[in-house]
Amino acid sequence: ARTPLIAGNWKMNLDHLQAIALVQKLSWSLKDARHDYGDTEVAVFPPFTDLRSVQTLLTADKLSLVLGAQDLSPHESGAYTGDISGAMLEKLGVHYALVGHSERRHGHGESDEVVGAKTLAAHRAGLVPMICVGETAADLAEHGAAAVPLAQLAAAVAQLPRDAEIVVAYEPVWAIGSGQAATPEQAEEVARAIREALRDLRGDDSAAATRILYGGSVTSQNIAAFLKQPNVDGALVGGASLKADEFSRIVQFRK
Ligand code: 13P
Repeated sequence: ARTPLIAGNWKMNLDHLQAIALVQKLSWSLKDARHDYGDTEVAVFPPFTDLRSVQTLLTADKLSLVLGAQDLSPHESGAYTGDISGAMLEKLGVHYALVGHSERRHGHGESDEVVGAKTLAAHRAGLVPMICVGETAADLAEHGAAAVPLAQLAAAVAQLPRDAEIVVAYEPVWAIGSGQAATPEQAEEVARAIREALRDLRGDDSAAATRILYGGSVTSQNIAAFLKQPNVDGALVGGASLKADEFSRIVQFRK
């Protein structure tokens, strides 16, 4: 069985002091509730500038939160002003790296090719790439829900060894930050298509083991219905991950 994964993408919010305050609140709330989220993995994706502070806190307090980064450079090292390498993140105890978030694809013009290079760079640095895919409202109207996410996924894993661990996050662009989440049935339909595509792209074992998350306006009110879907293994949460109480309720989706 796949371990459920609840991931909080903070985006460009919280300085390192605010980050420490949030993680402390979250850990108090989750320590009390450990029995309620037993087998669930919880990860946070702070901005780069917060990673060191959050890592120190997690290590010192032996907190069982996993650390993720929101992006990484496709390059290993060198003259890339402003970029952060996978190796730098790995040294900080980072486990996951988001690649291909729609805000990078659309806001920074990241092509499928760049996302593929970042996916490979994450793997080579010892990180687990969390590959984000999703269709815009226009894509949905023109091609249906699954076509664009599946094409993005195929491009992202094209150069990756088959046995490299990945996580796939299905985030319909129209559902991100809109308050208009996909229905659990819509999320399941695309998640199932992603799993079938993984079988062709990477083989049965990888398809069975890979966690597929849903993201886009996830809240404590709708999380349980998403996690009941057979092919949805977790959630990538934006806005609702910035409030300790709300994120803690999402983590305890079984309650
Ligand atoms: P919201 O949960 O704010 O819709 O954001 C989703 C997202 O983009 C997470 O990566």
